[in-house]
Amino acid sequence: MADKNLEDLFYETLKDIYYAERKIVKSLPKMARAAQDPQLKAAFLKHKDETEGQIERLQQVFELIGKRARAKTCAAIEGITEEAEEIMEEFKGTAALDAGLLAAAQAVEHYEISRYGTMKAWATQLGMKEVVALLDATLAEESATDEALTGLATSAVNTAADKKAA
Ligand code: FE
Ligand code: ZN
Ligand code: FE
Ligand code: FE
Repeated sequence: MADKNLEDLFYETLKDIYYAERKIVKSLPKMARAAQDPQLKAAFLKHKDETEGQIERLQQVFELIGKRARAKTCAAIEGITEEAEEIMEEFKGTAALDAGLLAAAQAVEHYEISRYGTMKAWATQLGMKEVVALLDATLAEESATDEALTGLATSAVNTAADKKAA
């Protein structure tokens, strides 16, 4: 226990986000299938493709730090995904479904933004320039996805969900 350092913390967190991304890449097609709004569907599918690239970036990070790519169960993403599945069941066939799916997707993005933001700061501290660049590329995609979802929510999805407004 005595000698754990920032490098160890970085490696543990890398395994966590690697698990999370692999969970997300499986969850996004289900979210896309469930979504009713074609733009929301398209946003989920687009991000599924980006997520495949993010998994590859993480594999490059493992390589750069000289460790084998390994995943460690992320309790947070398990919980967020479980909530998304609850929404899919409980709001199936309702006008509010898409708003719920969108919110669940934003919870995922916010978790990722938190993780990548932290890991970028640690990699910067540790002087790992190439790693910083890889993490930053993914962080930009997560932020853009979050903003696109906010745009869809406020331009269409929330209004469609609110039957009184329709
Ligand atoms: Fe991601
Ligand atoms: Zn996690
Ligand atoms: Fe976690
Ligand atoms: Fe994401």
